[in-house]
Amino acid sequence: MNQCDIAIVGAGHGGAQAAIMLRQQKFEGSVALIGDEPELPYERPPLSKDYFAGEKSFERIMIRPEKFWAERDVTMMLGRRVVAVDAEAHRLTFEDGETLDYGTLIWATGGSPRILPCPGHDLDGVHAVRTRADVDAMMAVLDSVERVAIIGGGYIGLEAAAVLTKLGKKVVLLEALDRVLARVAGEELSRFYEAEHRAHGVDLRTGVAVDSIEGDDSHATGVRLADGEVIPAEMIIIGIGVIPAVEPLIEAGAEGGNGVLVDELCQTSLPGIYAIGDCAAHANGFADGATIRLESVQNANDQATVVAKAILGHPVPYDAVPWFWSNQYDLKLQTVGLSTGHDATVIRGDPADRSFSIVYLKQGRVIALDCVNATKDYVQGRKLVIGRASPDPEMLVNESVPLKNLT
Ligand code: FAD
Repeated sequence: MNQCDIAIVGAGHGGAQAAIMLRQQKFEGSVALIGDEPELPYERPPLSKDYFAGEKSFERIMIRPEKFWAERDVTMMLGRRVVAVDAEAHRLTFEDGETLDYGTLIWATGGSPRILPCPGHDLDGVHAVRTRADVDAMMAVLDSVERVAIIGGGYIGLEAAAVLTKLGKKVVLLEALDRVLARVAGEELSRFYEAEHRAHGVDLRTGVAVDSIEGDDSHATGVRLADGEVIPAEMIIIGIGVIPAVEPLIEAGAEGGNGVLVDELCQTSLPGIYAIGDCAAHANGFADGATIRLESVQNANDQATVVAKAILGHPVPYDAVPWFWSNQYDLKLQTVGLSTGHDATVIRGDPADRSFSIVYLKQGRVIALDCVNATKDYVQGRKLVIGRASPDPEMLVNESVPLKNLT
């Protein structure tokens, strides 16, 4: 294939959903789904959860079975990396120099794991958790691993810690800030998860600076902290965020930096080029209009739908409420809204019961909820976030009052 009507670069959550939606919306032209990973599109969340734990096979995390793509006439171009975009000529260039001409381009490339800028970061035994290949590489050696050091106390680091602890590994988790999940949640949730991990045997340390990764014959043997202590480990996992994969688009002239800038229809500043998912920086109504990137399946899927509709001439601006989940041990966290900038919190239920919700308020209005083993609050609280409700805090804290009564 050297030309297509719609080229989708990135065969992850957003790219796959864009192809699905285009066909669902009766787009009849040719669609190419291009991805640099060798696999058909698969779900990424299980990589730090049940796939890593060996509880789910790869087949069970595929977004659609192989025949689905053939039946929908979506041309899969897998194991192919796009290195350049010529926005005027509507042409993509692959790593091997081959080209593909497109009518419309959807850029859905996600991001690549941020590299820890310290000596030893590239030793064998140092892992990221972004792709199936990353996780398969860890699973292949797990039997010979006793001690794991995880650098980064975000969701991915914490989920990996939960899986590895359950598998009987000794886990040390190192977080540079003074609490885990500092970027995405309030202090109460951080403290709850810190206590849970410690209760499960994780040596969880906050406020620690990493100096280097130590090695022996090119294989990592431990993590040296700034104070000189060395944490011995046969496996080191780095989970310190992602860098959006947008270089070819930025080089082609698209506006952006930390992600490519898109408008409410996910259009970039380059005509005929859209961007969605983790790599798309957009003004978000649930962040008071601030330009942000969201790293969630919800966002990738919803933006894919926005783009498919826009391309087919039924534009509907992106205005979806952000939501997210995380599974650690027997704890199911469900988050709705964005808590950044909150000025008050209300806790419904007792964290000691391991079923509670944190309601985040800003100037009296509900902006987000973190619900731990509390699905009813999550479902009903959604409406409070969407409606920017300002309920009486005394009613909010009263667990016996359902949130649906407070909209
Ligand atoms: P991706 O799904 O990352 O897909 C991008 C694809 O593009 C990748 O295959 C990439 O290799 C490819 N690519 C990049 N550059 C190029 C190029 N130049 N040419 C060709 N292909 C390219 N979200 C949740 O909502 N809940 C969760 O519980 C959750 N858990 C997660 C656990 C893990 C371990 C990870 C890594 C992520 C998790 N996320 C979770 C986040 C979620 O998976 C992402 O937000 C989502 O995958 C974003 O979709 P995307 O299409 O933007 O990018």
